[in-house]
Amino acid sequence: MTRKLRIATLGIHHETNTFASNKTTMAEFERSGLQTYAVQRGQQYYDMHEKSQTSMAGFIQASKRLDFELVPLIFAATDPAGTISKEVFDTLGGEALDMLREQGPFDGVLLNQMGAAVSEEYPDMDGELARRVREIVGPNVPVAMTLDLHANVSQQMADETDALVIYKTNPHIDAVPRAHDACDLVTRMARENWRPAKWLEQPPMVVGIFQHDTRDMPMKAVLDDLETVLSKPGVVGGSIGEGYPWSDVHENGLACYVLHEDSVNESKKWARWIADRAWSNRVDLYEPVGPSPSQAVTQALEKASTKPADSGPIVLLDVGDNIGAGSSGDSTFLLTEAVRQGARSWLQTVRDPDAIEACLAAGIGSDITVNVGGKTDLLHGEPVELTGRITRISDGRFEDTGTVHAGWRFFDAGTTVVMECDQGPTVALVTTRIGNMSREQYYSLGYRPDDFEIVVAKGVVSPRPAYQPIAHEMITVNTPGATSADMSTFDYKNVRKSLYPLDPEAQYDHE
Ligand SMILES: [Zn+2]
Repeated sequence: MTRKLRIATLGIHHETNTFASNKTTMAEFERSGLQTYAVQRGQQYYDMHEKSQTSMAGFIQASKRLDFELVPLIFAATDPAGTISKEVFDTLGGEALDMLREQGPFDGVLLNQMGAAVSEEYPDMDGELARRVREIVGPNVPVAMTLDLHANVSQQMADETDALVIYKTNPHIDAVPRAHDACDLVTRMARENWRPAKWLEQPPMVVGIFQHDTRDMPMKAVLDDLETVLSKPGVVGGSIGEGYPWSDVHENGLACYVLHEDSVNESKKWARWIADRAWSNRVDLYEPVGPSPSQAVTQALEKASTKPADSGPIVLLDVGDNIGAGSSGDSTFLLTEAVRQGARSWLQTVRDPDAIEACLAAGIGSDITVNVGGKTDLLHGEPVELTGRITRISDGRFEDTGTVHAGWRFFDAGTTVVMECDQGPTVALVTTRIGNMSREQYYSLGYRPDDFEIVVAKGVVSPRPAYQPIAHEMITVNTPGATSADMSTFDYKNVRKSLYPLDPEAQYDHE
């Protein structure tokens, strides 16, 4: 009988917005809006994911299906935000690598990464972690890295691993099956002493955030091309990295990656075939489209006045304050317009610990006037003066076992206060930078977004699994902010010299 494989898993999961003013320090890894425990070790890493829909849940399922021992070391994840401090990488990376050294030897490693992590010291933090893992386990132990579709994939990440496996869907609802794919590859490599031939192709182009939904054209065509390639003889895997635009790093952009049974030339040929086709469609894959905040609120009010009463809300997607991409959560561009244009049935969150403190001092049931939002930096609008009644005070914790972007389950908005404002809007003031990925956020407070005329969801794609089922219509709004869709509003210094659309004349040459 063959010995059971021992496969370790570890991860430091972060999507870093290098333009965001809020740095990611140890404090952010001590408390996260995405997980009850931002840092999970050993059995806790296992337990917190077993019944979720995350990559780790897929590893756990695959360990039973493929009969290997999964050794959970450490998993750290916190909300997307600014550059990660050196201390975080030294502390958490150091602990992860110590565990890998001390609990080994292993027959394989599953790196559970997001793929767009940038630290003060390492612009390619995911690649650096992979390099150090490789240094410890040596060249003969297979290493696979699972990644979010928003990964900015570097050559180092490809070189230091034997397989990269990226989600194929945005909204991200396939973390589990992709984790199974990673486990299939790693166990085969370990059992057959085989390695796939790999190729990473990076045409110099960025996919715009309006185009990130993989269910819609033109991005759907890129993923369809991947499926075509995956059906070719000898192709054993492949991924597309959509990229994460708000990162001032060399590898910012689209990535096409193909694994072949034994031929690098075949991997290269097919990765380039996908890349060439995406490149020829680069204009459509970037162009920011969508109404301004004032236009969007006008449209939403018009639509709300004519839609059937029981048809669900108009959902406004706040692109510039995409918390899931690292922005502040306290943008007021849409709220300002709601007040100015007299929206009465309006529901949204605003992150504002100061306003919450004032509300807590006043107490539930009292009337209060507070300045709300627009306090983190100068990118997200002015504070809005709201007067209203404090109707709810909660610890902000809620759970969602339904279909949620990336499969998260336990959420923590921190102390949360709901104000029903005289001006019209109902505003949930939250403490943490939490995206609007789950309707439970409001149900847990006793409010039904289903019954409002207009609901704001901060984000572009991540709120869709939660809000599409109830929305009468969703409008993607071209709001300013740290996650603006317009790349020309940011000062990039470290991206490739000639990158579309920053360089409209960019060329993509290969033999
Ligand atoms: Zn993502």
